[in-house]
Amino acid sequence: MFYVSTRQTSSNPTDRKKFCEILLEGLAPDGGLYLPESYPQVTPATLEAWRRVYSTQGYGALAFEILSLYIDDIPADDLKAICLKTYTEAVFGTPEIVPLRKLGNIYLEALSNGPTLAFKDMAMQLLGNLFEYELARRGEELNILGATSGDTGSAAEYAMRGKKGVRVFMTSPAGRMSPFQQAQMFSLMDVNIHNIAVEGVFDDCQDIVKAVSNDLAFKRKHKIGTVNSINWARLLAQVVYYFAGYFQATKSNSEKVSFTVPSGNFGNVCAGHVARMMGLPIDKLVVATNENDVLDEFFRTGVYRVRGSADTHETSSPSMDISKASNFERFVFDLLGRDGARIKALFGDALNTQGRFVLSADPTFKQAATRFGFRSGKSTHADRLATIRDVYKQFGTMIDTHTADGVKVAREHVEESVPMIVLETALPIKFAETIVEALGQPPHRPAQFECIEDLPKRVQLMPADVQQVKAYITAHCA
Ligand SMILES: *Cc1c(COP(=O)(O)O)cnc(C)c1O
Repeated sequence: MFYVSTRQTSSNPTDRKKFCEILLEGLAPDGGLYLPESYPQVTPATLEAWRRVYSTQGYGALAFEILSLYIDDIPADDLKAICLKTYTEAVFGTPEIVPLRKLGNIYLEALSNGPTLAFKDMAMQLLGNLFEYELARRGEELNILGATSGDTGSAAEYAMRGKKGVRVFMTSPAGRMSPFQQAQMFSLMDVNIHNIAVEGVFDDCQDIVKAVSNDLAFKRKHKIGTVNSINWARLLAQVVYYFAGYFQATKSNSEKVSFTVPSGNFGNVCAGHVARMMGLPIDKLVVATNENDVLDEFFRTGVYRVRGSADTHETSSPSMDISKASNFERFVFDLLGRDGARIKALFGDALNTQGRFVLSADPTFKQAATRFGFRSGKSTHADRLATIRDVYKQFGTMIDTHTADGVKVAREHVEESVPMIVLETALPIKFAETIVEALGQPPHRPAQFECIEDLPKRVQLMPADVQQVKAYITAHCA
């Protein structure tokens, strides 16, 4: 299996790369994103075999079956051991790892029972083990520099804590994450985890990460890497739970299901697209956005218009507050028949100069719905509150704000004959303020997080200054 860049052209071909070569890389050198040269196809016999693997040997064994189609530069026994040690009941809370729960005419697939109570653990926990394995094999070290407004940073830190060869330097806007999120990150005492609270907003953190990454000499000298959502390994890990959800919602492979996915950077739902391209019988992939509706606008109109920071709303589903969807290029690459030159013209040129591109009149645009199964919808703060209230009243289940966006939009697309699965992306305790606003009572708190806000904190406060962040990294990465 080889990987290619979405911006590869015949006059500028990128090298075909193996999985472990792109594991520790971000963007391709030409600015594109990596995708497999072709999607492995799952035959009905294989799908039947995997259904049995999941029910008899569990999620880790299923993950190995799927990942081994994409990773042929790690010996199979090693890859299997990594999958089995990642997806355990001890870490994810249930033997199914991603159990389904019925809420009336839709299913909720629980992806948020990992260490940080958001679906990002599903991929990040695997990434931590893959990084440790590959770095040991190479005899190298890696210093992960990131910016977070909440879920990504904590998922990365819990995945990398105590891992050999890896350090994490995570910037976050001082005082802007929820008290629970701050407690989750800052209470980690592992020596390889460094929290940097920047006096500024999330954009300041991102600018610092970009400035450090653009200093190539510093980057090389200090072995700086990232774990952001464009990382192919994260996306690949997420493909597995689409299969696991399908097997739980159906009895035979003649049935189809649809998924609704709360979306920001298009990472989670892009994994659904990959699963569908492999032949998993997915009918529709419904993209649910909040007030930051860049993606809903595209799927309704064919116009992809990125927002400036002034037009990016701060909402009560903050992990979906994005100005552009950084994984979207992967889907458009497939939509346009894998034409790297066109992708370069759209994402490399048009977006930079005009902030938008328009496919409304392009004959391929219709195929987003007809051939690739995409639908979309949007949810607002008022929708979120109403959905949280309604689900609690009808089923006694508390859902988080992002999941509520998913349930709201799923209800608009559900069809009688096709099971609809909504991906639960976080637990309500992470966004307690809005739950109190909706229900007048605080969310349920898992036992292991009792009094987490009272634990000692380990965090370095710093002005939004690149030089000071660099100096901190230099002082702490020897
Ligand atoms: C990251 C995140 C999302 C958005 O996921 P994408 O892969 O960026 O689309 C949605 N909900 C929660 C809780 C998240 O943490």
